[in-house]
Amino acid sequence: MNKSARVKQVTLSPEATVKVQARLSAKVMEHTSGCMLWNGAVDENGYGRFSFQGRNRKAHQIAYWLHTGKFLRKGLELDHTCNHRNCVNPAHLEPVTHAENIKRIYRRRSDSFYFDGNEASNTQHPLAA
Ligand SMILES: [Zn+2]
Repeated sequence: MNKSARVKQVTLSPEATVKVQARLSAKVMEHTSGCMLWNGAVDENGYGRFSFQGRNRKAHQIAYWLHTGKFLRKGLELDHTCNHRNCVNPAHLEPVTHAENIKRIYRRRSDSFYFDGNEASNTQHPLAA
C-alpha cells in the first residue's frame, strides 16, 4: 500500500556477488582499530563512492548490502559507530533513523569538544595523524 516505504532489493548471482566483493575489497585498507578504511574515491562529505549496477553509490552501503543481503529501507541511514565516514566495516555500521543519526553526530561532537576543550581537534580526522 505504501509504495514509498518499499526498497528495491538487488539480487545478484553468487559469481557477480563475488566480483563486487573483490572490487570493493581492493579499495579497502584495514586499520589496527578494526576499521576498514576506503581508499578509493570519496565525495565532498568524506563518504567512499563505489560504482554499482551503473550507479554511483556510497561504498559503505554496498559493504552493508554484501554483508546482510539488504539495502536499507527508506527512512533509515547507516550510522558509523566508529565515527569514521570512510569506514566500510559492516560491524561498524548500524541502521538508524535520520533523526537518531543527527542526534548521535551532535552528541559525538559535543563529547569531543568537552573532552579536550579544543574545537580544532573536532575537524581533524582521528586517523589522519
Ligand atoms: Zn570503522
